[in-house]
Amino acid sequence: GKFGYIKKFKFIPMISNTQAGELYEAQKAYFDSGATLPYNFRKAQLKRLKKAIEQYETRILDALHQDLHKHPMEAYSSEVGFLYEEISFILEHLKEWMQPEVVTSPLVTYPSSSRVYREPLGLTLIIAPWNYPFMLLISPLLGAIAGGNCAILKPSELAPATSALLTALIKETFDPAYIAIVEGDGGVVIPMLMSYRFDHVFFTGSIPVGKKIMEMAVPHLTPVTLELGGKSPCVVDEKVNVTVAAKRIAWGKFWNAGQTCVAPDYILVHENVQAAFTDALKQAIREFFGDDPAASADYARMINEKRFDVVAKYLEQGHIAHGGQTDRNSKYIAPTLLTDVEWDAPVMQEEIFGPVLPILPYKTLDQAIAAIRKLPYPLALYVFTKSKKTERALIEQVRFGGGCINNALVHLTNPEMPFGGTGYSGMGQYHGRYSFETFTHPKSVLKTGTWLDVPTKYPPFKNKLKLL
Ligand code: NAD
Repeated sequence: GKFGYIKKFKFIPMISNTQAGELYEAQKAYFDSGATLPYNFRKAQLKRLKKAIEQYETRILDALHQDLHKHPMEAYSSEVGFLYEEISFILEHLKEWMQPEVVTSPLVTYPSSSRVYREPLGLTLIIAPWNYPFMLLISPLLGAIAGGNCAILKPSELAPATSALLTALIKETFDPAYIAIVEGDGGVVIPMLMSYRFDHVFFTGSIPVGKKIMEMAVPHLTPVTLELGGKSPCVVDEKVNVTVAAKRIAWGKFWNAGQTCVAPDYILVHENVQAAFTDALKQAIREFFGDDPAASADYARMINEKRFDVVAKYLEQGHIAHGGQTDRNSKYIAPTLLTDVEWDAPVMQEEIFGPVLPILPYKTLDQAIAAIRKLPYPLALYVFTKSKKTERALIEQVRFGGGCINNALVHLTNPEMPFGGTGYSGMGQYHGRYSFETFTHPKSVLKTGTWLDVPTKYPPFKNKLKLL
């Protein structure tokens, strides 16, 4: 509301430079003690965290409702249930992941054996955005714990209820020398923390801030994972089940009122099915949220006035085929379909990150692919088609982070698959085993027996080249 800005500075304690230094030193000592190494320790921490989330569950759903008007069902499935699944998956596999991998050794090193050890990185910093403010802070933390690291967490100050709740949960659950949480304005807190050397920084957020994170990592050569955003296209082919496509797209787009990094950003629809598909979309929106989505308990709000203003501006950049109603007081923007948009309009150049869905017709798949390829590599791509050929053309000819065929968003719920962007949509990946790999260093060690010492490699070489 009106006092959000003031509240932010009044209630969120800002860490001082000295406190940041003390926290860093405490974590360094904790990590150096070796406490985080054993499998049993990591397993216990993951279980502890799961228990804490269970205990806080109602309060988590309340906070998410307060920050984003998320329905408890939506909040549970995207931010809480998702984490339970991920924790179970990690617990099931962690022991096996931690085993050194035995690999073969080249004959010239005979008699040798080779192993790849998965070594913890050390001190890690995890920074989250406001759109899935709970899940996007905790999910990377699972990887940090599994990998045997210490972590400092930075939640988004733009979701203040969730930030406060995360702080209570983490402080109650962990020794800050092992896992700590620091609230506050990212522009102040992060540079302060990153003046110290972290072994890894895991950032989820916008492209401009992602660039700043990478810059701050340079002096210490700290590796970064950047989970960013972009314009994720959604292609609707001529050969398609229009009703199912419309429902799945409307679900993925208007989930969290479009404030999802992998939300379908815009639609490219074959001109022959455009009318039928647009009608089916309208129908799906009505089925989901009724005639007045403002009155629906199932529909979220913009995070703040600033984002409301940005997204509301997009409504002027095309013909409103459906929706278009707004209310700045409640930060409400109706699920909106936009047609007749120009490629050079801001709505087709910027990540929309709100409930406005531009629909653009195409004549041939080649044209659609060419249009997608003019924009930076997206985080996600969705294609709705019955044609294997269309499927293959998009997968082969468009670079994107990940995506779905005949579905939206759900690829990221499979812990067997890596999640991450490419190019401007990010670098690095996580989920399941990939989280463990992101938060560990593969340390290669070759061990040679001394019972035999093959003399070929030693000088003087004389005619030894002939032996090779
Ligand atoms: P943001 O980049 O503004 O903020 C993210 C975090 O960075 C926050 O914790 C914030 O405090 C901190 N921050 C802000 N300014 C900073 C600065 N100058 N220096 C250091 N840290 C700073 O992003 P947001 O608005 O919270 O989130 C929306 C963006 O995140 C969208 O672009 C979306 O696509 C992207 N996103 C990506 C994923 C993914 O998994 N790839 C998931 C969710 C959101």
